[in-house]
Formats: sequence, C-alpha cells, structure tokens
Amino acid sequence: MSSLAMKQDPSNFDVSRIRQDFPILSREVHGKPLVYLDTAASAQRPLAVIEAVEDFYKNHNANVHRGVHLLSQEATDLYEQARLDLARYINAGSDREIVFTRGTTEAINLVAQAYARPLLKEGDEIIVSRMEHHSNIVPWQLVCEQTGATLRVAEINERGEIILDQLEAMLSERVKLIGVVAVSNALGTINPVSEITAMAAKFGIPVLVDGAQAMPHTKVDVKALGCDFFCMSGHKMYGPTGIGALWAKKDHLEAMPPWQGGGEMIRQVSFDRTVYNDVPAKFEAGTPNIAGAVGLGAAVRYLEGVGMENIAAWEQHLLQVGTERFQQIDGLRIIGTAKHKASVISFTLEGVHPHDLGTVIDHYGIALRTGHHCTMPAMDFFGVPATARASFGLYNTPEEIEAAAGAIEASRKMFV
Ligand code: PMP
Repeated sequence: MSSLAMKQDPSNFDVSRIRQDFPILSREVHGKPLVYLDTAASAQRPLAVIEAVEDFYKNHNANVHRGVHLLSQEATDLYEQARLDLARYINAGSDREIVFTRGTTEAINLVAQAYARPLLKEGDEIIVSRMEHHSNIVPWQLVCEQTGATLRVAEINERGEIILDQLEAMLSERVKLIGVVAVSNALGTINPVSEITAMAAKFGIPVLVDGAQAMPHTKVDVKALGCDFFCMSGHKMYGPTGIGALWAKKDHLEAMPPWQGGGEMIRQVSFDRTVYNDVPAKFEAGTPNIAGAVGLGAAVRYLEGVGMENIAAWEQHLLQVGTERFQQIDGLRIIGTAKHKASVISFTLEGVHPHDLGTVIDHYGIALRTGHHCTMPAMDFFGVPATARASFGLYNTPEEIEAAAGAIEASRKMFV
C-alpha cells in the first residue's frame, strides 16, 4: 500500500484547492484558525457529500424498496447507486457483496454473530492482533463466551508491527477466523494484509479485515487483499456518520443465517415459515440509513475524483514532515514507528498528561485526539495509559503541522 504512495509526486497536489471543498476548515476555534488533526477519529465532509445528503432530503426523500411511487423509486435508485459506487471502489465481485451497516463496529458484530457463532465450538480459536481497535476484540470475546471458543492474540513488536512468524506459528485447523486491522488508528501501522491472507489460506482460515482506517488513506482492492470480510465506516472516509458497510464474499453471505429480523430482510412471512430475502437484503433488516448511503456514495466519487494515489502520496509527505518535526520536540516519544505507516502520529510528552496537552492546545485552535483510542491492549504493550494523536487527512498542510508543533512546545513549557 505504501509503495503505491511513494510513486506519486506530492508537489502536484493542490491542497489549497482541496481545502475549499471543506467548508468547516475556514472556521475559527477559540479565535484561531481551526487546525483539524483528528481525521482518524472522524474526517471532515466535503461539499459534495453535504450537498448529496441535502439534495436527497430536499428532492428525493422516501423509504426504499417498498414503494411504487416515484419518490420511493428515486430513493431506491440513489441508495442502490451508492452500493454500486462502493462495490466498484473496492473492486468487489458484485454490488450484492456489499451490506450496508452503521459502520465498522456493526459490520464486525454481524460477522461475529451471523458467520462465526453458528460454526464455533469449544476448542476452536479466533486470532486477532494486539493492535486491534476494541471493535475488533470485544465482538470476538462475546462470541467466544457464547460458544466456548478461545480468543488468541497475535503479538506486536516495539515498532508496532505484527510479528508475522509468531502469527504463522499459531495457525492450525483449530483457527476458524483471523481478524486484523489494515491500518491501525492508534499506531498508524499499515499491516501486510495480503501476506496474512496468504498464510491463512494454507489452512483455509478466513480473514476479516478491519478497514476503517484503510479506506481514507489507501486504494483498497478486496480481491487483491485476498480477504473474506472487509469492514468500513463512512465517517472515516469523508462520508456521513451512521453508515458503513461490510463487504463479504458472496458464498459466505449466502451461507450465513440472518442476523437481525424485521422488514426488508424477508421474502415471505407466515407463522408457519418465513422465507428470507436474497443477499444483501437478508442482512439489512428495517429502514436503512438512506441519506447516509447516498452521502457515502458521494464520498466515494469525491475520493475517486481526487485520486487515492494522489491522496496517499500527499499524506505520506505529511507523515514525513510531521515525524521529522515532532521528533525535534523535547520529551516527545512517538508510539508506533512501523516501517509502513499511514498518516497517524501517536505520541507522549514527558511530564505532560495527554489530556492536559489536548486541552491546552485546543486553545491554539488545534484539534488533537487524546486517550487510549479504543486500543487499550496496544497501549498496555507500550506501557502508556494514553497518547496524544495527530492524524492527517488529504486537507492538512505542512503549515498546520508546524502550528501544532509550536503549540505542543509552548504547552510543554507550561507544565515542565
Ligand atoms: N476500527 C478502527 C481501526 C477504527 O479506527 C475505528 C474507529 N475509531 C473503528 C474500528 C470503529 O469504527 P466505527 O466507530 O465507525 O464503527
């Protein structure tokens, strides 16, 4: 993934033009220009997304799939167009392989409950890595409690990389699924997903990829990754909140029982026998987040328009500038120094609690995330309860990095 980024020249990237697409970036915070370095938590939305959602509500709003009237047909077409957009974007075999969910968390829970739970039994194993987000840990703990299966942990090294030969040594016929994050939100590590799927394939083990942070930073091709399940969130990729998707191989989706019951997921209901709908409707019970899907489709088209290779190259440039500059700050320790990283810099500052740092630099207009980033096991590994995290999106600039670095230095002087 990162080698793709290196081929592009970041100097061709017109970031000031890009910034005009994001109205929120021109606002002030505490009287200072907003410097938004929290894209890994939630990205800002371009006008293309805001306007698509607005247009939906102003001109096409109705429920999907059930109506014969024109508005319902338009709403259905827009909703299904978003599925097509997403399928094309990640190189899915078909749009029928895309299930809309609330986001990554719901997508993983869906797989845990509808795929894993029916097949797991005592003695079976699920493997996840130590750097996983809680949303790729807790659903597996729940399903292990429900079935008697065991959750095992693939360890990481001091740079924050999965130790691949240890992972390989853990594989056996007992392992029924590997869950791995493509890009770590806390450490920035880009994991070698294709290598992991190739290892898993030798034992016929399916792989679920938490793609929440991969989608905004890199070109994702689910076929090339060789995974079985890929989970994503709209709001991490410049789309709306409350919408995301599960991509899964069609054979899996067809074999899986429904997860939630309700309208839309059925073909016929009687008290004697209920017949389920085809995939993906089988997994979309109830009225979906239609406007959210429409906004997500617009986000996909926006990213395609800018070009993922250009975005990745620009973000690699920001990562390099940010890493070099932050390393000059006294007492700053970068947590997560993998060889292949996305534009995320987690750090601690000697003598300053991350929450205090976050609060102080907010007054400089700088939005950083502080905390455990929903990755407590990874924090434990590095012996820290929390970090501060600067994450860069396609709209960030080296000048903003300099402003953040200056504010971090000024804050440190207040505490140390
Ligand atoms: N995985 C990763 C790597 C994430 O960064 C996040 C969000 N912080 C999630 C999963 C969960 O995503 P969501 O809250 O959108 O379901």
